[in-house]
Amino acid sequence: MKCPYCGRRAIKVRADKIYKVVPKGLEDKLFFACIPCDAYVGTHAGTGQPMGTLAKHPLRVLRSRVHAMIDPLWKPDAYLRRLVYYQLSRDMGLHPSKCHVAMFDEDQCREAIRIARRYTREQFIEKQEKRK
Ligand SMILES: [Zn+2]
Repeated sequence: MKCPYCGRRAIKVRADKIYKVVPKGLEDKLFFACIPCDAYVGTHAGTGQPMGTLAKHPLRVLRSRVHAMIDPLWKPDAYLRRLVYYQLSRDMGLHPSKCHVAMFDEDQCREAIRIARRYTREQFIEKQEKRK
């Protein structure tokens, strides 16, 4: 996997290569990183595959803002999560397989924030009820 900022090959590292103070719970987490660019992305615990594309600080901030809007809509219900991401993919015109926050660029993050602002947890619970 390549760094989208400089084209160098990203390396797999532990959290202590990225954080001065490793946040609790991330001690064993692996990341793909470009150290010269200060760009990184987490990996899936099971597969070790990257969760998305490497991100520098401004994009990381935007991605965490998207999560701050979206996560309360579904957590901790995995089925609700599917409904939320499916709706978001429809509203953003993305294929569901491309609708992952860790894959978003800055414009997509801004768009997702604009869209998710209109979402309510209740609307997805309602949808879930209808499908039962
Ligand atoms: Zn780089």
